[in-house]
Amino acid sequence: MGKVPRNRPGSQYDEDQLGFGDIFTEHMLQMVYSEEDGGWQTPEITPLQNLVLHPATMVLHYGQQVFEGLKAFAGPDEDDILLFRPDMNIARFTKSCDRLCIPAPDQGLFMEQMSKLIRLERDWIPKQHGTSLYVRPTIIATDTHLGVRPSRKYLFYIILSPVGAYYPEGFEPVRIMVTDKYIRACRGGLGEAKTMANYAASLLAAEEAHCAGFTQVLWLNAVDKLSIEEVGTMNIFFKMNNEIVTPALEGTILPGVTRDSVIHFARELGHPVVERQVSIEEIVKAAENGALQEIFGSGTAAVISPVSHFRYKDHDHMVADGKTGPVARQLFDELTAMQTGRRSDPFGWVVNIGK
Ligand SMILES: *Cc1c(COP(=O)(O)O)cnc(C)c1O
Repeated sequence: MGKVPRNRPGSQYDEDQLGFGDIFTEHMLQMVYSEEDGGWQTPEITPLQNLVLHPATMVLHYGQQVFEGLKAFAGPDEDDILLFRPDMNIARFTKSCDRLCIPAPDQGLFMEQMSKLIRLERDWIPKQHGTSLYVRPTIIATDTHLGVRPSRKYLFYIILSPVGAYYPEGFEPVRIMVTDKYIRACRGGLGEAKTMANYAASLLAAEEAHCAGFTQVLWLNAVDKLSIEEVGTMNIFFKMNNEIVTPALEGTILPGVTRDSVIHFARELGHPVVERQVSIEEIVKAAENGALQEIFGSGTAAVISPVSHFRYKDHDHMVADGKTGPVARQLFDELTAMQTGRRSDPFGWVVNIGK
């Protein structure tokens, strides 16, 4: 196996030039589960290394995998390492594992080991506004076996990647394409689990959207192809008639940590928020009669992603004059300020693991 390329903090990259997900820190956490050896083994922090997998490793064939994504931020004090609602990511990881027949690691141990790894790599946390250390916990089925059944061995690992500001040149609205040709998930499926199969299912639609000049796909409900689900890496919000509306969680969309935070925080800031079914017809009508004020997505990577245009059945609709709306901007500014300890945190969401 070849050596893993390393980049040392500060020396090999410029914080201005950081992209997303290409640079990794020096260490990783690994913890093995083996039914034969009585379950979870002792966690280990090791140098970042390639995984050596037999070609029949089950995850490569049957997709038994779960992952998470969260960010660690530098805070105002030198020692601060701030995580945003890590308990929600860990709880979601457990739920996703249950759906995939994967034994989840103990939640307290997960938090403790993840914090230990991040503290060890603290010099890798970029400092510039908008940058962070992205944390990717993952679990994969590692039994060597052809034949469909749950694996009896797993590898849980965490890797860390310093990432750049999502909007280095300021808030840029995106164009989304509503698809009624493909579906992402249906009730009873994997839609609410954070697992790789959902992304595999989304690629072709995303490619077609890119070719047509759109950034993302907006998914509709698999059954009626009318009610709106999510954007595939983001949950979605609509501001109409001075009310913020987002699709309710009914088993097919990913329950985003950012989504939940937007709902609570927007209410705190005085905006009414409703979780309910929203149909694409309703949004088209609202766009046509002027009731639609803003559309924005929510997710850990971008936090808030304003939408300037959407296409549905070959018709293009412009939102908020093609610009970033005031609510999207306010939520982005306030949430990122909270995540980096530059604003009060009325919900106690920010956890400082640095000290
Ligand atoms: C991770 C993810 C999101 C966003 O969730 P956050 O917890 O806010 O980052 C939305 N949709 C899908 C499909 C996802 O995998």
